[in-house]
Amino acid sequence: MTDIPVYVADRKSLFNDLEHFITAHQVAGKKLAILLININHFRQINVVYGYESGDRLLQEFVSRLRGLARQQDYIARMGNSEFILVLPEILNQGHATLAAHKLLSSLNEPFELGKSKHKVTADMGIALFPDHATHIVELIQKAEMALMDARRGIKSHAIYADKPIQDEFSIWDIEVELENALDRDEFELFFQPQVYLDTGELYGAEALIRWNNPARGYIRPHIFIPVSEKSGHIHRITSWTINTALRLFSHWPETKTPLKVAVNLSTRVLSDPDLVDSIGGALSIWGTKHEQLTLEVTESALMEEMTSSFLALDDLKTLGLNISIDDFGTGYSSMAYFKNIPASELKIDQSFVCYMLENTMDQHIVKTIVKMAHGFELKVIAEGIENLETLQALKTLGCDIGQGYYLAKPMPQDEFIQWLKNYDASAVRKAITAV
Ligand code: C2E
Ligand code: CA
Ligand code: CA
Repeated sequence: MTDIPVYVADRKSLFNDLEHFITAHQVAGKKLAILLININHFRQINVVYGYESGDRLLQEFVSRLRGLARQQDYIARMGNSEFILVLPEILNQGHATLAAHKLLSSLNEPFELGKSKHKVTADMGIALFPDHATHIVELIQKAEMALMDARRGIKSHAIYADKPIQDEFSIWDIEVELENALDRDEFELFFQPQVYLDTGELYGAEALIRWNNPARGYIRPHIFIPVSEKSGHIHRITSWTINTALRLFSHWPETKTPLKVAVNLSTRVLSDPDLVDSIGGALSIWGTKHEQLTLEVTESALMEEMTSSFLALDDLKTLGLNISIDDFGTGYSSMAYFKNIPASELKIDQSFVCYMLENTMDQHIVKTIVKMAHGFELKVIAEGIENLETLQALKTLGCDIGQGYYLAKPMPQDEFIQWLKNYDASAVRKAITAV
C-alpha cells in the first residue's frame, strides 16, 4: 500500500496509477472496486472549528483508512473532502460492501474537533471494474453517480446502479411537457405550516409547487425545477407561483397573529429586470400587505451570482418583503459577506436538523448558526423537523421558528385551511416545553 498523503493528489499521476491497476486487472481477468468517500460537512467543520481542526480531522481520517486497508489497497485524496479507495482483486460486490461497512463503522468513534469530540459522517459511492465500466474515467464517473445516490438515500453507501433514480424521467421529454403543463394548468401549490417555537403560535406557511401530471401523478419539484431553469420556463412558473400563492393566501381564515406566505425563488429569476415590478403588481392585485410575503432563496444559489442577486434582493427588501436564506449552512465559506446579506431570516438546512439528536456536530452547527443569525438580528427557521425531541432541542438552542413533517406535511389548500382551523397552539407549546 502506498503512503497516503493528506494533500490533494495530482490528477495526472493519480489517473496514471489507476490506469495501471485497470490494465493489470484486464490482463489477469480480475475484478476491482473503487470507493469514493466524501466526509460530510467538511467545509462547515473548517468554518466552525478552524482549519487546524479540519487538517487534524483529515490526518485522523486517513490513519483510520490506513488501519483498515489491506497491503495491496490504494488510497488517495481526490479533493477537499473526497478520497478514493481502490480495492484490487476482489471476488465480488459483497467484498466492496464489506469494506464500506468496516469504514463506516470506524467513523463511529468520535473525532477530536476543537476542544471536544464529535461524530463525523461520510458518504460512499462504489463502482466495479469491469462490471460498471472498463475505462478509468468512466469508472470514476459511475462511482460519483453512486455517491450522489448515497447522498440522496437513507444508507451512507451506494453501489452504482444501471438504473439510477431519475432514469425513468430522463427518457421523458420534461422540457416539452413543461410548456403544455403551464398551458393546461397542471401545477398546484401545497402549503406547509411554520410555527413559533416559544408560543406554539402560527408564523406562516411555505408554498411548495407540485406538478399534477395526468399520466404520472404528482411530480416533486426537484425533477422539473432544474429543467425549467435551463429551458427558461422558470420565469413563467415563478410568475404563476407568486400569483397563485397570493390568491390562495387571500382565502386563508383569520388567525390570532397575521400569517406570512413564503414562496421559493430560483436565482435564475433574480436577474430578471422585471422581477421587482411583477412582484409589486401581484401584491397589489391580490391585496397582500408587503410584510406578509416572504421570498426564499437558497444560500448556494445566492453565492453563485452574488452581486446581481444581492442587488435584486436589496430592492425587494426595500419594498418591505421578507427575504429568507434557504438551505443555510450548505454553501457558506466566509463570514465576510454575511453582514451584507439582504435578508430577514435564515432557514437552517434540513440535513443538520434531521440528525441533530444523534450527531453532536450537527447540534453544534445549529447552535452556531442561531447565535450568529441573532447577532445580525435575523430570525432562524429550522426545517425538516420529524419528531418532538428535535423540536424541543431546537427550542432549547434558541431557534425561533420550526417547520417539518412532525408539525404537518405540505398540504393542498383545502386541507391546509382545515388544518389551520383545527390548530391548537397551546397544545403544541405545552408539548415543546415539556422537556
Ligand atoms: P425546500 O425549499 O428546501 O423545501 C423543503 C422540502 O422539504 C420540501 O420538499 C418539503 O416537502 C420537504 N420537507 C418538509 N418537511 C420535511 C421533513 O420533516 N422531513 C423531510 N425529509 N422533508 C421535509 P419539496 O416540496 O419536494 O421541495 C423540494 C425543493 O423544490 C424545495 O426545497 C425548493 O427548493 C424547490 N421548490 C419547491 N417549490 C418551488 C417553487 O415554487 N419554485 C422554485 N423555484 N422552487 C421550488
Ligand atoms: Ca424553501
Ligand atoms: Ca430548504
